[in-house]
Amino acid sequence: MRILLLGPQGSGKGTQAKRIAASHGIPHVATGEILRSAIAAETELGRRVQPILERGDLVPDELMVDLIRERLQEEDGFVLDGFPRTLPQADALDAMLAEIGKPLDIVLLLQVGDDVASSRLLGRAAEEGRKDDEPDAIANRLRHYHEETEPVVERYRTEGTLVPIPGERGIGEVAADIDAALTHVAVRSR
Ligand code: AMP
Repeated sequence: MRILLLGPQGSGKGTQAKRIAASHGIPHVATGEILRSAIAAETELGRRVQPILERGDLVPDELMVDLIRERLQEEDGFVLDGFPRTLPQADALDAMLAEIGKPLDIVLLLQVGDDVASSRLLGRAAEEGRKDDEPDAIANRLRHYHEETEPVVERYRTEGTLVPIPGERGIGEVAADIDAALTHVAVRSR
């Protein structure tokens, strides 16, 4: 199954993506995690993107598209988390999946307001000390979400592949809605 998970930072995407990946036996492809590992490993890519992540800005599209192309070509199914974040990235994703004949089965949107997103991220900053979970970077990340990622959400909504899931609830309640949506897909693609 090829699943795309959309939603602002702090919507619980990472938590739900990990759970779906484990229960369906498919890889969790999270671009933020790929970038953070590159930074930790001090690779060329890591050095280049570190200041961008710390500010809460977006890494250039070309770089992200190359990164994800390599990763997705290896996989039959996946839960994609953190990509696409801009319309050019969405175009590139559609084109690469069409090329290999493996379109997305479903796009899930975790909906949370900015207040809930910010307070969850500030909580995580206290626990994990992520630099991009500090107030200025959080504001920047949410601004990028509204300006650049919401048009991507609208695109999938228009195409009819999007299933909105209210995200301001407990992990278990959100998970139950996601599992119900995925059951429909599994039945359809049989
Ligand atoms: P995340 O863990 O998904 O919140 O991503 C952390 C950071 O990595 C983001 O704030 C961006 O700086 C960068 N990043 C991750 N995915 C993308 C993407 N698809 N396009 C641009 N930047 C990205």
